[in-house]
Amino acid sequence: MKRLEEKILTDGIAVDENILKVDSFINHQVDPVLMDEIGEELAGHFKDRGITKVATIESSGIAPALTCAKALGVPMVILKKQPSKTLNSDLYQTIVTSYTKGTSYELTLSSKFVGADDHVLIIDDFLANGEAATGALRLIRKSHATIAGVGVVIEKAFQPGREKLETQGIEVYALARIARMAAGVIEFAE
Ligand code: 5GP
Repeated sequence: MKRLEEKILTDGIAVDENILKVDSFINHQVDPVLMDEIGEELAGHFKDRGITKVATIESSGIAPALTCAKALGVPMVILKKQPSKTLNSDLYQTIVTSYTKGTSYELTLSSKFVGADDHVLIIDDFLANGEAATGALRLIRKSHATIAGVGVVIEKAFQPGREKLETQGIEVYALARIARMAAGVIEFAE
């Protein structure tokens, strides 16, 4: 997506070879016009697939997931990063471990909002090592829903997230694919 790539080049900050900051337009301050375009692009790619819900992991996936869900005309469901207080049969849970950050968190989903009749598109802001998306897939599968694919705003293509998802048979669609970064340098994949 050309306009997104231009925005990343002008307003994104490559901190080092691994971390891209986009907090002035995607995940701290949000550019609502660009976010609408992002949602339209993601929805355009996955339309006509019978998607019934768009799911995202709180919190930085919420903005693109919402605009995508609006464009598809379906509800958005937030997979919540909250510890479940008690074992609850109405709640699906999974633990997501971030090997990069050395932390783990519990992801929860109410069975009220996703079920066996649903075909779910997962949206997130970044795809890096694919740990968050894999956790989301695991949680959605617990609900017996089917998965339409994973859509991300920015893929760091030099990290193994896409491979991790595609080997599970999951389609990955990214609006901007970064091939290489260094402090102050961002190069997109062809
Ligand atoms: P994963 O490694 O599981 O694919 O990425 C997990 C999460 O870390 C993403 O949902 C995203 O919020 C965050 N993340 C990964 N890489 C970056 C990055 O370069 N910049 C920012 N701002 N967030 C990132």
